[in-house]
Amino acid sequence: MNTDQIKNKLEGMRKDLEARQTRIAKHTRHRDEPLSADFAEQATELENGETLVALDREIQDEITRIEQALRRLEDGTYRTCARCGGDIAQKRLEAIPHASQCIDCASKD
Ligand SMILES: [Zn+2]
Repeated sequence: MNTDQIKNKLEGMRKDLEARQTRIAKHTRHRDEPLSADFAEQATELENGETLVALDREIQDEITRIEQALRRLEDGTYRTCARCGGDIAQKRLEAIPHASQCIDCASKD
């Protein structure tokens, strides 16, 4: 993949994630409406809300990683491992376009 193809892929991923965030935001806003009287139902609504918040945070993290990858693409360090300075394998970047570490460093976490 060349730089433009990688950039397109990353931007496409970001767009998908942002669309998911918008959907989640709609759900979360829905919770501002008065909770139903039935307690069991309230508990379920609360649980769903918390799951959505956690999901939203995960999506935000991923968007941040994608934006960092786009910046690394700009400054020419995209293929360099952020931890050891070695090369990130092409195969790895094809599987995870926003990977910032080589497979060796990533498996140390
Ligand atoms: Zn490394």
